[in-house]
Amino acid sequence: MSKQYVIALDQGTTSSRAVLIDHEARMVDFVQRPFTQIYPKPGWVEHNPQEILFSQLGSLAELLAKHNLTEANIAAIGIDNQRETTIVWDPSTGQPIANAIVWQCRRTADLVERLCGDPKTTAMIRKKTGLLPDAYFSASKVAWLLDHVEGARARAEAGELLFGTVDTYLIWVLTGGLVHATDPTNASRTMLYNIHEGCWDDELLQLFNIPASMMPEVRPSSGSFGETSYPGIPAGIPICGVAGDQQASLFGQCCFAPGQAKNTYGTGCFLLMHTGADAVASQNQLVTTIAASGPNVGHTEYALEGSVFVGGAVMQWVRDELGLIRTAAESEALAAEVEDTGGVYIVPAFTGLGAPWWNSEARGTISGITRGTNRSHLVRAALESIAYQVSDLVHAMEADAHRPIEVLNVDGGASANNLLMQFQADILDRTLRRPQNIETTALGAAFLAGLGAGFWTSTDELRALRSSDDVFAPKMDRERADELLYGWAKAVHRTIG
Ligand code: ADP
Repeated sequence: MSKQYVIALDQGTTSSRAVLIDHEARMVDFVQRPFTQIYPKPGWVEHNPQEILFSQLGSLAELLAKHNLTEANIAAIGIDNQRETTIVWDPSTGQPIANAIVWQCRRTADLVERLCGDPKTTAMIRKKTGLLPDAYFSASKVAWLLDHVEGARARAEAGELLFGTVDTYLIWVLTGGLVHATDPTNASRTMLYNIHEGCWDDELLQLFNIPASMMPEVRPSSGSFGETSYPGIPAGIPICGVAGDQQASLFGQCCFAPGQAKNTYGTGCFLLMHTGADAVASQNQLVTTIAASGPNVGHTEYALEGSVFVGGAVMQWVRDELGLIRTAAESEALAAEVEDTGGVYIVPAFTGLGAPWWNSEARGTISGITRGTNRSHLVRAALESIAYQVSDLVHAMEADAHRPIEVLNVDGGASANNLLMQFQADILDRTLRRPQNIETTALGAAFLAGLGAGFWTSTDELRALRSSDDVFAPKMDRERADELLYGWAKAVHRTIG
């Protein structure tokens, strides 16, 4: 039988999924398995790598069994993963030397400040990696493991330990220890990779005291990462696509060309704009990162990336802390009961404000309340706060890239909210496109794998497969939109003040 499917291993922060995708790019089915979040101390976050592995390979095995699939049916596997999360293991036993340090973990904040705090080092890191030095990225996490796990440094220096982000660890295990590799999108989030030269950077490895022998080979996002060779999984399925989750979603949204952009409305929001062969340096403290490319592109492609810390999370707060709604989805009907917020603004600066304000001291505010303010106004203000923050980010990114985002592709849980999407289009004065399949992350991994395996032949073919989108065109009178934006800017200034 001919090969009918591609499987995406969608390895997220709270769960692992195996997603079955057919030749028409439809999501046929998926199996999802959650795993434990480990919080050893305030601000620390860990995962057990074995548990990640079993949740991911378990969901893969279950998906295959459920549909009676063998290696003969699967053209390729693609992997998209939570980025930056760091694993160090011993290849002779396959055993990790400690739990994975998760991207959210703040344990190395002091170390980063000590090693990278001076302006010269910050500038050097920014120039080489496109990142702003932070504990978020993998570099300091690897250093921490080598310094705190007994005997680890000596073993690493003797070439006895390997480093990987989650993609790398999965590939290594799935290929029976044959392939130790990652892709440029994941490498670009380690703060050890020179995004211009396309190599691990000796100066950065020295700064963090990490032996080069631990580092994985960096292979193109779409191409060969070996074949499955693991008990319980059909042997010989090629792994042909790898990308970090946000870059996978950019690719899954068919943003293949400069100026094309997507925003994911999840717990936080992630805005990425493809910038082609240009590694655009931000003036607004956005980061420059590597975009996933299909085969035969022939040069590195880049993206600008920015995030909103509190996106959909503001609706969780409205639900759990204020008790105004029972489900996030309920917010849409409630907000629609009123025409506007009646001048109420919620600025959800729970942990400070990100781009373009960058104020870590700011704390949230609710302003403009009158005797007539009711539940619907507040819920609407919370929803609108997501759109205002994204609007600020879009403008910062457009200023950096010196080009407009003409159409914003959207996905993520909160993009299901039509009122929010219409308001976003109105405030931005841009058209939004929401694909029928908002699982763009898994789709991106599948696309990369399918292109790598020849299951699909070109990005043009993928673009043609894109299901019909929901389109949100701006409808609001410009004067009204400007008035609302002015009110938001005032509310933000009150928050900072
Ligand atoms: P993540 O991948 O970050 O866990 P999801 O993409 O699953 O997030 O999106 C979940 C987030 O979106 C939650 O913060 C939730 O409050 C919000 N959300 C989900 N559905 C809606 C909705 N219909 N309207 C507004 N917010 C929503």
